Amino acid sequence: MAADLHLHTNRSDGTETPQRVLELAKAAGLSTIALTDHDTTEALAVAAPLAAPLGIELIAGIEMSSSIGEVEVHVLGFFMDTAHEGLRRHLEEQQARRVERVKEMVRRLNRQGLLITAEEVFALSGQGTVGRPHVARALLNRGYITTTVEAFDRYIGSAKHPAFVPGSPLPPERIIRLIREADGIPVLAHPIYLKDDTLIPTFVRQGLVGLEVYHSGHSPEHVRRYERMARELSLLMTGGSDYHGESKEGLPVGTVRLADEHVDALKRWKTAHA
Ligand code: AMP
Ligand code: ZN
Ligand code: FE
Ligand code: FE
Repeated sequence: MAADLHLHTNRSDGTETPQRVLELAKAAGLSTIALTDHDTTEALAVAAPLAAPLGIELIAGIEMSSSIGEVEVHVLGFFMDTAHEGLRRHLEEQQARRVERVKEMVRRLNRQGLLITAEEVFALSGQGTVGRPHVARALLNRGYITTTVEAFDRYIGSAKHPAFVPGSPLPPERIIRLIREADGIPVLAHPIYLKDDTLIPTFVRQGLVGLEVYHSGHSPEHVRRYERMARELSLLMTGGSDYHGESKEGLPVGTVRLADEHVDALKRWKTAHA
């Protein structure tokens, strides 16, 4: 049996309900999953009572935004206490920040002559955490682009693009500490997207516990590189598909499968630090 510890639902920028993601995990033959929506744990509350009847073990998960200057850093959290007051307060602030961020992205897009409204974007995110994929979808709906990837490549992908705004002004150090305070395990998500491995030892000094070695964006060579780095820095290894349903096609639930030994190692760490 295997695990997929990086899955998004419609509580952030995925397209499927928490229940549907559980069913897809069951159909894919997974034994353990974590729902890791951006800056929210809402899917967990919905999915928790539905997992056991399906024979799926559900781990508390989240993917939290942070930044160093204009560089996005995503930190995954596992096994945290989702009722932790500091965490709850932070997530509420993040929801508000993300609304303001969309308004700022829309202003910048408007200046580029792309006339979408923030309301259109919020209509697409519905009850979930609003993010760049919703902005991309709004641009697509208006015919300014022909694929959502184009939105990232031309307008919102990174600091070199005219309408890019980071998901959170807080540095990864703060997020790592917050996850630790909530008794969770902080893990650096998809390290290849960071494009700077020299930051990783710094994160470890700040309390990072794991590295997402296995990810749908990692080539076999990247996996070998991060396996080596995890061993050298005594980091736990996690992995997942980064499934988003129809908003990121061709990456079904279970695309990336984490061996049970790594899930066991996460549990041992949690027990030892409880
Ligand atoms: P946000 O949390 O609002 O910054 O959005 C992050 C999400 O945007 C990621 O989880 C992906 O779903 C999507 N994303 C980020 N970069 C790209 C890209 N270059 N192409 C397509 N989707 C992307
Ligand atoms: Zn996403
Ligand atoms: Fe991410
Ligand atoms: Fe993700």
